[in-house]
Amino acid sequence: MRITRVSAWSLHLPYVEGSYRMAGDRVTTGMDAVVVRVVADDGTEGIGESGTVGVTFDAQYLAGQVAGVSTLAPVLLGLDPRRPPAVHRAMNAALTGHPYVKSPLDIAVWDLAARADGVPLWSRLGGDGPEPTPLYRPVQGVTPDEVRVKAVERRAQGYERLQVKVGDDPIVDARRVLAVRDTVGPDVVIFADANCGFSLADARRFVRELGHDGAGVYLEQPCATLGECAQLRTSWDGPMVMDENIVSLAAFVEARRLGVADGITVKLTRVGGITPAVRIRDAAVELGVGVTVEDASGCNLADMTFAHLNASTPAARRVHSVDFDSWVTLTHVVGPSARDGSFLRPQADLPGLGLSLDLELLGTPFLDVSA
Ligand SMILES: [Mg+2]
Repeated sequence: MRITRVSAWSLHLPYVEGSYRMAGDRVTTGMDAVVVRVVADDGTEGIGESGTVGVTFDAQYLAGQVAGVSTLAPVLLGLDPRRPPAVHRAMNAALTGHPYVKSPLDIAVWDLAARADGVPLWSRLGGDGPEPTPLYRPVQGVTPDEVRVKAVERRAQGYERLQVKVGDDPIVDARRVLAVRDTVGPDVVIFADANCGFSLADARRFVRELGHDGAGVYLEQPCATLGECAQLRTSWDGPMVMDENIVSLAAFVEARRLGVADGITVKLTRVGGITPAVRIRDAAVELGVGVTVEDASGCNLADMTFAHLNASTPAARRVHSVDFDSWVTLTHVVGPSARDGSFLRPQADLPGLGLSLDLELLGTPFLDVSA
């Protein structure tokens, strides 16, 4: 089997709620996505999506992704799609770095490989079954009163795990977290995610303000570097989760050595797709670390990819994930939804990801190369 055609589209996915805010007044009104289709010589197809949440979250942006996918697509022509790690090595040999341009191509090749075998992706990845992954949803809002209202709304939408964005004024942020805790009670899991926004001094003020039990929250990526997060350990003995700093297997190993990775979030676009994500995930599982596999952008195609990947993570280490399809106003695929109540769940039997592209909605591809 050989890859004979690669096509790619880009599109903007506007937010249902209008905007999304992270620490440092980083506000976006939607996400950008690149969608890829890889076709083999027998007509079998694979599809993949990855994208970016503006230009101020990770070191990635849409124009770079369009250029990079265009550079790498010809490299795939002639390769055997049933061996995704070999295809990924070929991409690395052709272009150093730029993991975010490799991600959609790698996902599409994995989808194609699973379809060629006639099995769902969760099975191709060695999972126990089409198991569910709990969903979480950010609680946006500036004041404690606003987040109280939003937390009630999120619970009514079926989310049993909440993420409160912090990383600005440490005292106001702590009050918002305490307001959410007071609103939802002690049993709802809360992550306080600073998205790298706190200085070390402000992170110390924030955790002190939470009180002696830290409001029972998981502290996610409080500062920009692993070193600062490690120094925060003298003030915070609660669970700490790394997200932005998990750029590679080596970064995860260092985070674990420094004692700041009780859990990790592996974003497919940040690390370069399913191939590197699985390596990091498997190492984390072996070391007893909880793992979230997700991404920074997308709709139902991305969600379904998370659903399959998390289903292939052993249940004891599977944490949670996102359903971007609920965040944005459109979807560019046809097929089953990845959301199942408060969970993501991959379809059980359809080969690969089990979805097909809505070519009418996607329109003209920015790239279409064939052998
Ligand atoms: Mg995060």
